[in-house]
Amino acid sequence: MSQLTLSQLRERVRGEIITPDDDQYEEARRVYNAMIDRRPKVVVRAADAGDVMATVDYARENGLDLAVRGGGHSVPGFGTCDDGVVIDLGRLRGGGHSVPGFGTCDDGVVIDLGRLRGVRVDPARRTARAEGGATWGDFNHATHAFGLATTGGIISTTGIGGLTLGGGIGHTARGFGLSIDNLISADVVTADGRLLVASETENEDLFWALRGGGGNYGVVTSFEYRMHPLKQVYGGPMFFELSEAEALLRFYRDFIASAPEQLGAFPAFQVAPPLPFIPEDRVGDTFIIIVAAWAGPLDEGEKALRPIHDAAPVVAEHVGPMPYPALNAAFDALVPAGLQHYWKASFVGELTDGAIAAHLEHGPKIPTMNSALHIYPINGAVHRVASDATAFAYRDANFATVIAGMWPDPADNEANIAWVRDYYAATAPHSEKGAYVNFLSGDDQGTIRANYRGNYDRLVTLKKKYDPGNLFHLNQNISPEG
Ligand code: FAD
Repeated sequence: MSQLTLSQLRERVRGEIITPDDDQYEEARRVYNAMIDRRPKVVVRAADAGDVMATVDYARENGLDLAVRGGGHSVPGFGTCDDGVVIDLGRLRGGGHSVPGFGTCDDGVVIDLGRLRGVRVDPARRTARAEGGATWGDFNHATHAFGLATTGGIISTTGIGGLTLGGGIGHTARGFGLSIDNLISADVVTADGRLLVASETENEDLFWALRGGGGNYGVVTSFEYRMHPLKQVYGGPMFFELSEAEALLRFYRDFIASAPEQLGAFPAFQVAPPLPFIPEDRVGDTFIIIVAAWAGPLDEGEKALRPIHDAAPVVAEHVGPMPYPALNAAFDALVPAGLQHYWKASFVGELTDGAIAAHLEHGPKIPTMNSALHIYPINGAVHRVASDATAFAYRDANFATVIAGMWPDPADNEANIAWVRDYYAATAPHSEKGAYVNFLSGDDQGTIRANYRGNYDRLVTLKKKYDPGNLFHLNQNISPEG
């Protein structure tokens, strides 16, 4: 069979094809983590599923590495590669080719329809369908207009694609479940270049694998989600002195075990940023904080947060009613594109005294304002799904911890990576063996079996069925070899 050539690919693709000779190449090859410096052969900014199918064929027939980029937030840089092909789902803008300039105007409104980031809401059925390159900012903006929301990331610039396929942890996980628990169906381009619909009733095995198996099984061009009525939340961050950290973490582990499920709340160590609600003389100091989000009736929010508020004296806070998308974008400025990233993570059964001691030793040493230690609660609705009902296996864990090293200057790489590794080494004995795949770095491939526990063998069987040549291997890889 003859191979598709680059010029034939150009004929089949409606979106942009960018190669090293093009002016946009430098921008097109970059991802969110500035530590990643790779030079693909071709970047395809796909305009539709047909472009994705053609590009999958091109990469497979030419034996090239294939990277899939949604929001581009993968810490290990799975959204790019050296010498291979990148499918970029999230960057396409309208062509703007109208000769009279109908694509823009003075002082008016421009509707740009040209991105693969569209979101369509069906308010009657309470569902939303989003294209594979949308970010949570795109998604929340569109669904908020209808007073609907589902579990998504806590930073609005993260892609729905990568985040959903790994599981999807966010403020509303205790109440609504993970993002995958709200997934109704997905349109998937598989390694053989076909487009399949995966749902509870079509290609059910593929649907099972997609819900936690990451980008291993194909390129999702469209996700359909179940939505929940939620317009405003009552929440925000509360800052406490480090001297309160031990008492606060002990309080938190007991409180969150039985708190109402409409309450999301996670503790973190955080260097105080220069924000209006932080006393000027405390900017740059390290605190233990709790970020809360009450998704129940607004007038019950203050009462729901009261136990946290009363657990220790609050030094600073920014708590109140706010639109759900506002909370999901509240921390964006702390993590702009172009930082260096090195992360480690683990699932945690119980936040034991030993685990708390490890946090007390390493959390306060957090080296930069951008970095974070977050302990996300994943009980409540997440626990009501069986461990083998989706690929996401840790349904009995109570927490997903992430030690997210993020810093601006490459000269500081060694010190920041050391902080993450030392912290992880101290908490690992108090954690499960596996971790949430979306919080891992490129050097964590060795934990792949542990991340999926009893589901791993079935994932391998399905990998052999849907991607026997391991075309989709630039991810936390489930190899067809097992
Ligand atoms: P990309 O780099 O575009 O893709 C990452 C991986 O997903 C690749 O393997 C790619 O092949 C695959 N992929 C992406 N889109 C598709 C698609 N449409 N079809 C098939 N494969 C696809 N995770 C949480 O659960 N909750 C959070 O609140 C959260 N916050 C984060 C905040 C920051 C600042 C960052 C950097 C990450 C955060 N994450 C969070 C982790 C996040 O889920 C992962 O980084 C995820 O991979 C990002 O998805 P993306 O589409 O932006 O990344």
